[in-house]
Amino acid sequence: MIEKIKAFEEIARQLEPNAPIRKGVRKKVIDYTEDFLDNIYSLKAYEQTDDQGKGLFDSPINDVTIDIEEAIQIIFENVDTQGLNPASGGHLGYIPGGGIYYSALADYMAAITNRYAGIFFASQGAVRMENLLIKWMANIVGYDEAASGNLTTGGSLANLIAIVTARDAHNIKAKDIEKTVIYLSEQAHHSVEKAIRIAGMNECQKRFLPMDERYRIKPDALEEYIKQDLSDGLKPWLVIAAAGTTDVGAVDPLDKIGTIANEYNLWFHVDGAYGGFFALTDEGKTILKGIEKSDSVIMDPHKSLFLPYGLGVVLIKDKKHLYHAHHYFANYMQDTLKNADELSPADLSPELTKHYRSLRLWLPLKLHGVAPFRAALEEKLLLAKYFYDKIKTTKGFEVLIAPQLSVIIFRYIPKSGDANAFNERIIQEIHKDGRIFFSSTTINGNYMLRLAILSFRTHLETVDLALQIINEKVALLNLKP
Ligand SMILES: *Cc1c(COP(=O)(O)O)cnc(C)c1O
Repeated sequence: MIEKIKAFEEIARQLEPNAPIRKGVRKKVIDYTEDFLDNIYSLKAYEQTDDQGKGLFDSPINDVTIDIEEAIQIIFENVDTQGLNPASGGHLGYIPGGGIYYSALADYMAAITNRYAGIFFASQGAVRMENLLIKWMANIVGYDEAASGNLTTGGSLANLIAIVTARDAHNIKAKDIEKTVIYLSEQAHHSVEKAIRIAGMNECQKRFLPMDERYRIKPDALEEYIKQDLSDGLKPWLVIAAAGTTDVGAVDPLDKIGTIANEYNLWFHVDGAYGGFFALTDEGKTILKGIEKSDSVIMDPHKSLFLPYGLGVVLIKDKKHLYHAHHYFANYMQDTLKNADELSPADLSPELTKHYRSLRLWLPLKLHGVAPFRAALEEKLLLAKYFYDKIKTTKGFEVLIAPQLSVIIFRYIPKSGDANAFNERIIQEIHKDGRIFFSSTTINGNYMLRLAILSFRTHLETVDLALQIINEKVALLNLKP
């Protein structure tokens, strides 16, 4: 037996490369990422290719090894030069990504030390770091010491945790579901409705509230609907508003909705995945006034704090509801209950074993301070106004509404022919070009162009380039019949 163990050990020890080998591999990885960063301002924001990364399948997973150079080549050809480049400042579509550097280093450190971030007993420091960040973010939205929350992989999971917490806080049981009512708008992000469905609440009555001309919920309508539902013997329990809709960047009137929610004892959830961190700025604070009246908020550091993908946050005003909906006890974990002076993430979310993901937010905040994040968000708000002013006064263009945060919706009206078809061709030309990327949406049956400014690498020169490219493409299409 000993011989067998030794034989396996010899092979298994390949999993622990020695220092010189680590150094060699690390250097290649660093060279590759440095090369990427050195060129990031000239790399395309979007690349259309025919093979779409299929080359990955030519290198199946088995006992055959390749060296790091070959591995990097595969990644380069099949992943990093295909489709959207979210690290590019030219990414002005959907909700732009980011990828600030110190988060990458934090992920590297977290993966090597591999602290167990789910339970206080296992890593007091990792849990305290998460809870410290939760406190900082709770403070940004105006919650007090009673608040808690959880660092998730993104906004969708954060929405799910909030919906489940709301459901249990209102003690809604399966047999009551059909009689309960949720209020939201057509502009609510689809992850909210997905969360409602996953939470087993799809049979709730859903009231889609009318919106004003800027695509914001009309609070008076909310109150009328609630009164009607109450008099019909139904149970209103949840209202969902957006701090920045994905489609047009609209912020619902949070203050008024909050007042109504409190009066009728509804859980008030705010989806701030895109816009929540604008509360760091003075203008954003004014726009988001009333967010502190909510019972839960979600925000996405991988959107409006420019982090690489993989970090969302849910905040719950009263931590007991979050704990009540998610804690669990298992016999094999009895030792973990002693001396816990912080709540453990495992008791506040569906996850048990948890990535030490707090470090990817903590490290950049500590090394940069908050000021550059705030400035970048102020800059985005102004860039959106700048683009809006320019495009509004460019001949032939029509703008839907003034931006409330950093999304602008516009289209070109051709002298003749179908406007929808023309704007679709503009998008196709932009995607073929690839220097910048933006997306489209359909509003009231009209095909609209949609620019979202949120990358920390998007600056005045990027927006000027976008304007130049849009004008180029329109001129080109006007020449081609
Ligand atoms: C992006 C987004 C979500 C979903 O968040 P993910 O991080 O993509 O899971 C939810 N709501 C809004 C308003 C968003 O913009």
